[in-house]
Amino acid sequence: MADKDFYKILGIERGATDQEIKKAYRRMAQKYHPDKNEGNKEAETKFKEVSEAYETLSDKQKRTMYDQFGSSGSSGYGGGGGGNAGGFNAQGFDFSSFGGGFGDIFENFFNGGAGGGARQNAGPRRGEDIGANITITFEESVTGAERELEITKSEKCDHCKGNGAEPGTRIKTCTSCNGTGEIRQMRQTLFGQMATTRVCDECGGAGKTPDQKCTVCHGTTRTRKKDIVKVKIPAGISDGSTIRLSGKGEAGINAGPYGDLYLHISVKHHKDFLRSGNDIHAEQKIHVLQGVLGDEIDVKTVYGKVKLKIPAGTSSGKVFKLKNYGMPKINSSIKGDHFVKIILDIPNKLTKREKELYEELAHNAKLNLKESSKDGFFSHFK
Ligand SMILES: [Zn+2]
Ligand SMILES: [Zn+2]
Repeated sequence: MADKDFYKILGIERGATDQEIKKAYRRMAQKYHPDKNEGNKEAETKFKEVSEAYETLSDKQKRTMYDQFGSSGSSGYGGGGGGNAGGFNAQGFDFSSFGGGFGDIFENFFNGGAGGGARQNAGPRRGEDIGANITITFEESVTGAERELEITKSEKCDHCKGNGAEPGTRIKTCTSCNGTGEIRQMRQTLFGQMATTRVCDECGGAGKTPDQKCTVCHGTTRTRKKDIVKVKIPAGISDGSTIRLSGKGEAGINAGPYGDLYLHISVKHHKDFLRSGNDIHAEQKIHVLQGVLGDEIDVKTVYGKVKLKIPAGTSSGKVFKLKNYGMPKINSSIKGDHFVKIILDIPNKLTKREKELYEELAHNAKLNLKESSKDGFFSHFK
């Protein structure tokens, strides 16, 4: 039954004008009219075909559809398709005639594949995820931090409790989609023409519409609201981390679940500390004599000052480890270490006395210094 050629039936070319179509229909309709062909079964069939052809080709939308898909989408054509493949005709082919199995394959394909999962959209829908950026100081990344974020987002409508109906009014089955929540339509795709489904505009996929829409959300089931979200940022968080707050995103549609809130954390750079994993690296300047003679110094860590013993004879560049003075590991009592690199600070201004003492040391070390001032050690001993 599938490949009826409406143009052939009317005896016209595919590119026929509206005028030509009308003319051809009148001629054929007169020829096969039941009044002139009483009892003629063949003429009766012909007349029906001609009428059907004209109904489609005289309607701009139906004709375009027919030219593209070989079907006008009208119930009269290609009908009789099983429940599975209803309205699904390709190139005048009725897929339902292949039997249920074939139809099922396409059904699955549409719902999981190119069709775009329209069915998942029916009824309650999960709210969208939202994101926010938070910048914390290096110190806060050590101790953890709390923030209050003001976020404007969709919330479930309080007035209708998220069902979209004005309280006290009835909710009825959507007449646009007959309660299925979706509208089927033909579409041209890479794979040829396909029946696809889209969410019903009228009910937003719920399959139900209120007698009277909620006066606050106008039936959308959600309202925009400012929300204060308290955020706890754990100690030890590193720059570039993301925290997911489940259910803190946009409200779902039709009382669907909330989306999530994603927080993107930036940690400010610190002038003294550099983080590497859970360890912290820093430098500490000490006087050259502290390195030569040894000392006990205060080292700045993220937990405050800590005493460090510098042994006599410590060279510049020597690294000391302060165990467990690094970053805390998230959700753990474990901490990294603090590494301090010693930099010997050479004095660049000496008093006369200091200069003499250094020169004496140099002499003692048998250093034959080439660059020495006139009034220094050598002149002194002349
Ligand atoms: Zn609907
Ligand atoms: Zn409402």
